Amino acid sequence: MNELTKFTGTEVGYYFICRKKLWWFHHGIQMETESDRVKLGKLVHEKSYERKKKEISIDGKIVLDWQADGVIHEVKLTDSMEEAHEFQLLYYIYYLKQKGVKGLRGQIDYPKLRQTQIVELTAEKESELERALQEMEKISSMDAPPEVEFMKICRSCSYAELCWG
Ligand code: SF4
Repeated sequence: MNELTKFTGTEVGYYFICRKKLWWFHHGIQMETESDRVKLGKLVHEKSYERKKKEISIDGKIVLDWQADGVIHEVKLTDSMEEAHEFQLLYYIYYLKQKGVKGLRGQIDYPKLRQTQIVELTAEKESELERALQEMEKISSMDAPPEVEFMKICRSCSYAELCWG
């Protein structure tokens, strides 16, 4: 394992959504469990994959929805955070590669949309991911959350009150 694998998959996803969100979460402030949207996501996940569902937690850092034939699946509610979903799954593949499990591919399943997206850790994606992980290291070690502009997603973010009062 290298020093870049200290983060959880959730943190990697948050980095691509909002750096401030990453900072709050990394510093132990977790509000997502209260969000109706997250509850709905869990429900979609559970109902859509009731029969096939098999979660695998590794080192308490990454949780794979299930794995079959070398493909790691990740179930998501909508494709509105596509980049975050992609890099969260790329991180799973990267993390397992550091543990010596190579040649894995990923697939994001959007059961509500009846769509799937294949994710592969190419050399370019791996470099991009490593740059993001280095940036995450800088952000998470800051004493205060980074300044960010108000975004459209802030309206539905569970941290909105904390950020914008
Ligand atoms: S409210 Fe906006 S700025 Fe604050 S954590 Fe959420 S997305 Fe980021």
